[in-house]
Amino acid sequence: MDRKIRVAVVGASGRMGLEVVKTVLSEPDMELVAGVARSTGPVDLGTLVGLAPCGVTMTSDVELAFVESKPDVVVDFTGPHSAFSHTSLAIRHGIRPVMGTTGFTSQDIEELDKQCQEKQIGGIIAPNFSIGAILMMKFAAQASKYFPNLEIIEYHGDQKLDAPSGTSIKTAEMISEVREERRQGNPKEEETIEGSRGGYYNGFRIHSVRLPGIFAQQEVIMAEPGQALKIRHDSYDRAAYMPGVALAVRKVMTYTGMVYGFEHFID
Ligand code: NAD
Repeated sequence: MDRKIRVAVVGASGRMGLEVVKTVLSEPDMELVAGVARSTGPVDLGTLVGLAPCGVTMTSDVELAFVESKPDVVVDFTGPHSAFSHTSLAIRHGIRPVMGTTGFTSQDIEELDKQCQEKQIGGIIAPNFSIGAILMMKFAAQASKYFPNLEIIEYHGDQKLDAPSGTSIKTAEMISEVREERRQGNPKEEETIEGSRGGYYNGFRIHSVRLPGIFAQQEVIMAEPGQALKIRHDSYDRAAYMPGVALAVRKVMTYTGMVYGFEHFID
């Protein structure tokens, strides 16, 4: 592209949104054209993230921001309640959605893909933009062909609302594409305390740990008689997601349809 990619950030005052604003302001081929959040008021987005003023003021109406700033791409990190409506709204305006927000159902994704196809634009819904986490998922899926007995343990901060995490669900889906469905463990197993064995997914278990001070970690433990293989990823900071977000902003300019999962961008 011979001009800068015009980017709007929705959820711009949030924990992820602030990092995205910083990233867009620092990428030479991107131009920040709008920032939307519900509660911050009309602050300059550059000032908000501790950089020089950038001349873009925070607003609170998503559709108005789309109409007035005419972005090529919108990066959205808001919340599950607005995941579908924001994506659909962006597509209607011909704006390519890069959705970090979690909470889409498979029917939502199918419908949004149709909308993207009709408008002839690209989009991505990615439960995890961290390249390291994606590699962890890919390696786990690859290994599950040879180590089909496995459990997932994911660790997040104690204020996280949903369990298990979007990343663990995506990992489970990727594993299930490779590993034949089979129930693990003793068929007569009983829980004396409800939930002790974790959530059930296609024959294996997902465990969610929630503790203060933890950012985001996941371990896939696989074992066969006499050996175990542990594949683990640790993120310490939201900066971990930003190379992936920047790559997604560039990529969505190049194809048509809705991609689900950042792993499709990593060979
Ligand atoms: P947060 O609560 O810190 O920020 C949410 C932001 O969205 C705030 O600016 C809020 O004002 C804004 N907002 C909420 N609803 C809105 C609406 N209807 N219209 C306009 N603005 C709205 O949350 P966070 O920690 O930044 O996480 C945001 C989302 O991103 C969550 O769904 C979380 O699960 C997800 N997440 C995804 C990834 C990934 O890699 N895909 C990584 C971390 C978090």
